[in-house]
Amino acid sequence: MTTTSTREEELLAQLPTGILINGVWRSAGSGETFAVVDPATGETLAQVADGSAEDGIAALDAADAAADAWAATAPRKRGEILRRAFDLCQEHADDLALLMTMEMGKPLAEARGEVTYGSEFLRWFSEEAVRISGRYGSNPEGTGTTIVSHRPVGPCYLITPWNFPLAMLTRKIGPALAAGCTVVVKPAELTPLTSLFFAGLLLEAGVPAGVVNIVTSTDAAGVSSAIMADPRLRKISFTGSTPVGKKLLKQAADNVLRTSMELGGNAPFLVFDDADLDKAVDGAMLAKFRNIGEACTAANRFFVQKDVADEFSRRLTERVKALGVGRGTEDGVSIGPLINAAAVDKSADLVADATSRGATVLTGGSRIDGPGTFFEPTVLNGITPGTRLLREEIFGPVAAIATFETEQEGVDLANDTEFGLIAYAFTTDLARGHRLIGSLRAGMVGLNAGVVSNAAAPFGGVKSSGLGREGGAEGIHEYLDTIYALLPTT
Ligand code: NAD
Repeated sequence: MTTTSTREEELLAQLPTGILINGVWRSAGSGETFAVVDPATGETLAQVADGSAEDGIAALDAADAAADAWAATAPRKRGEILRRAFDLCQEHADDLALLMTMEMGKPLAEARGEVTYGSEFLRWFSEEAVRISGRYGSNPEGTGTTIVSHRPVGPCYLITPWNFPLAMLTRKIGPALAAGCTVVVKPAELTPLTSLFFAGLLLEAGVPAGVVNIVTSTDAAGVSSAIMADPRLRKISFTGSTPVGKKLLKQAADNVLRTSMELGGNAPFLVFDDADLDKAVDGAMLAKFRNIGEACTAANRFFVQKDVADEFSRRLTERVKALGVGRGTEDGVSIGPLINAAAVDKSADLVADATSRGATVLTGGSRIDGPGTFFEPTVLNGITPGTRLLREEIFGPVAAIATFETEQEGVDLANDTEFGLIAYAFTTDLARGHRLIGSLRAGMVGLNAGVVSNAAAPFGGVKSSGLGREGGAEGIHEYLDTIYALLPTT
């Protein structure tokens, strides 16, 4: 059965499928390719070059050769190129969105939202490029002048995950290029098509040869180990799972690389008895079911104060029952397929574990027969201590509800995790809201908000959720070294 439309076929026909090194698209050195599959149908969308460690080193050669000239390019010029890339993303928003829906599965409306969100990092950092500044002042003794300035860290290696194929890349490329760094990108092997299309837009925007190089590969560990062992590399920025992030941190130690790590989450979602329940349910729908639940910021554990727990569960379940499931290109679909069969198995296993420990299924709870890898949007309540999903990222459309009695108990439950990316809390008590910002151990807090991400804000976590921040004024400093000089005045 063929499910691709003519528009999809045209888009795939014009897509680059090689690796990009020094401004030239080429095959993998081995000539090998791998298949990219539509998770809604199981059909192959494209064959993409399967790069090796040697291809990775060739990409680093190009990034290293281009580094000095790009660092010396005027910040205004770097900003203008990024701004053109932003404009091109707007022009090609429908193509980028369709590609993301095809290779990752998210509904088309959400994919368009990702184009808006993701491209904004290009515009934001086009404006930050000209604001890189330093400090100038007297030393405490009054005998010298202190000058603090910044310079690009050098060639960077950027590894991205499959769940936000465009935004996870622009969140790194935007600040890296604005700062004057060259990059080698390794996109997730499950969703490389959006990155390849986007790389074409970067070339069209005027990014010089060698500044952005892309190596697609099924051998993530092999390519990455080779690149990271090379002393010309100066930084790694990784978004993905915590276990892989820990491996990369160990490898980064060998050459004392700068690191940015955007890792896994296990977000708590607290609903207090003074919350506006309509807003809390709206927030829950966004925080849990956006991106099919496959987001590092996805609410993983709902903790609801006892007096409102039944009403919150009832209203949430009503909304979840109305969600349309199907291929993301179809009208009325808000839940697409999960990325692959393993993701469906994981949701099924976590639901089975929760029910075996006493949880009740209010709606959903089962896998959906193929083609495609779908799981029913699900609400569970009565989650008991020891349930696996309290510790593990669900990464699927499963909302799990437990209750609490006092604010302190709610906070303790929320903080009882090795992760600390984001915490959500719904309350109309302003003083409590302020207290929670201090007491929730997370890098970000959604206070009466189900989505917080935007290009102007520093995104990132604490504890096992990572190191560093992407976006905001902070984002560009991840790609800049700080240089201090003392000029004696006598
Ligand atoms: P993953 O860790 O399996 O893969 C991420 C990337 O790392 C992919 O490009 C993959 O090819 C590569 N990779 C895998 N093994 C590697 C190795 N040994 N060496 C080098 N690279 C390797 O994660 P995923 O399944 O693609 O993404 C989901 C995870 O990403 C979730 O844990 C999610 O929470 C996290 N995530 C975090 C953020 C954030 O900003 N904190 C954003 C999105 C996703």
